[in-house]
Amino acid sequence: MLNVKTAPDTIEAISDDVLDDFEKKIRGDVLRPDDERYDEARKIWNGMFDKYPAAIVQCQNTADVVTAVNLAREHDLLVSVRGGGHNVAGHAVCDDGLMIDLSQMKGIHVNPHSRTARVQPGVDLGDLDSETQLFDLATPTGIVSETGLAGLTLGGGFGWLTRKYGFTADNLLSAEVVTADGSVVQASEEDNADLFWGIRGAGGNFGIVTSFEYRLHPLDRTVLGGVLIHPMERATDLLRYYREFTARAPRELGSLFVVRLAPPAPFLPEAVHGKPICGIIVCYAGDVEDGERVLQPLRDFGEPLADKIGPKSYVAMQSMLDQGQTDGHQYYSKTEYLPQLRDEPIETIVTYAATISSPITRVVLMQHGGAVRDWNEMDAAVSHRDAEFVLALNNGWSDPADDERQIQWTRDFWTAIRPFATVGAYVNFLSADEGQDRVRAAYGDEKYRRLVQLKNKYDPTNFFRLNQNIRPSV
Ligand code: FAD
Repeated sequence: MLNVKTAPDTIEAISDDVLDDFEKKIRGDVLRPDDERYDEARKIWNGMFDKYPAAIVQCQNTADVVTAVNLAREHDLLVSVRGGGHNVAGHAVCDDGLMIDLSQMKGIHVNPHSRTARVQPGVDLGDLDSETQLFDLATPTGIVSETGLAGLTLGGGFGWLTRKYGFTADNLLSAEVVTADGSVVQASEEDNADLFWGIRGAGGNFGIVTSFEYRLHPLDRTVLGGVLIHPMERATDLLRYYREFTARAPRELGSLFVVRLAPPAPFLPEAVHGKPICGIIVCYAGDVEDGERVLQPLRDFGEPLADKIGPKSYVAMQSMLDQGQTDGHQYYSKTEYLPQLRDEPIETIVTYAATISSPITRVVLMQHGGAVRDWNEMDAAVSHRDAEFVLALNNGWSDPADDERQIQWTRDFWTAIRPFATVGAYVNFLSADEGQDRVRAAYGDEKYRRLVQLKNKYDPTNFFRLNQNIRPSV
């Protein structure tokens, strides 16, 4: 069962006296079930997870995180860690345990001289972009500005700038980590290099990251980006063309193919409102005139229902998709990497995507490649640098009564596409019900073995287990 709704009369995992004492030791607030702020604080992006922690600690600094980790360890409490709360698997919240909420730790400091940024773990992508763009700088992240930077980085992270500058994790220079025994350690190529290798892709398995240092790159404030919308009947031809077009795309170009139900937008013919449509979304992060030349053949293909590509600020580009899958709906996703876009997977994608039934659902196929291959596969835990495309079946709907039907639709689609996929998967897109084999496959056997050794060293009791879990062997 995915959607376990629990509204307990009492949560007795920890006594009030212990929480009173804890509260006195920290800067942040401790929210208990009778606190009026508790219900808001336990909500996460995926409304499927309606869970009730024994307490929520809203940390203000690293010392609060250390005190919270020590409390949970000493009282044998289950711990969930919340960054931006956007993970589809819902691991940021738990029943009965301690929810360590980092969302108020929002400090960002950009150093334009060294082209680096120090960032706390409650920052979302939009927070970071608006600070770095003050200096015409950026680091690659994701494509929805409200996503938490912490979870995204720790799982790998990709978006419009990834083909130019690599995964988000590739641009992490150092981190401060609170480990399960309450120690505060530094992780970088120089300090605890093994831990640094693991946190760049294996999520929160080894500790709580309280500070991230990123490498920044020059990026003009204006990029060329937007969407080309086509009728669903053209989806097969469009995907075949997209295959050719992306094969010669420069690194400056980030792009994806998407299917969704058409919104009742004035720029779309009424006849398609509420029906499946397909499109290509692009972001050219380079000289705008060069981008115009690169994108012209794509814009000339077929007769788009709408061409909404134009120069815009990078910050606007980063928030362009924010209204698509907003907080609190029911979400379930499946994901695969595709080694190449052959005709058969194209047919499968088009056949299933044409049966989308919810306005919140998105089927997304994003091009990979480019700079991610400037690093070797064993350079960090983040994996599958050779994949050409990542497919995300991001299903969303509003009514919990539709859970079974919508989950089944996603699983059927996924089952049909799997024969064309690699054996791996992107860990940040995995659902809560994937199982240990999928986590192992997300890294491959060799890396998984190394991650288990790291887990044995840094978290032998599996204190941090609400995640796509690397199980210790000791
Ligand atoms: P949370 O739910 O807060 O955390 C997820 C898990 O990460 C936690 O359970 C914990 O195990 C761990 N964690 C979080 N913070 C810390 C920390 N400070 N220290 C240790 N562990 C921590 N991914 C992409 O790569 N590219 C995209 O373009 C992209 N777009 C997305 C769009 C939407 C609308 C959504 C919902 C997700 C998207 N994702 C994307 C996936 C995203 O990377 C993951 O959902 C990621 O986990 C979000 O991080 P978070 O901090 O918001 O998550």
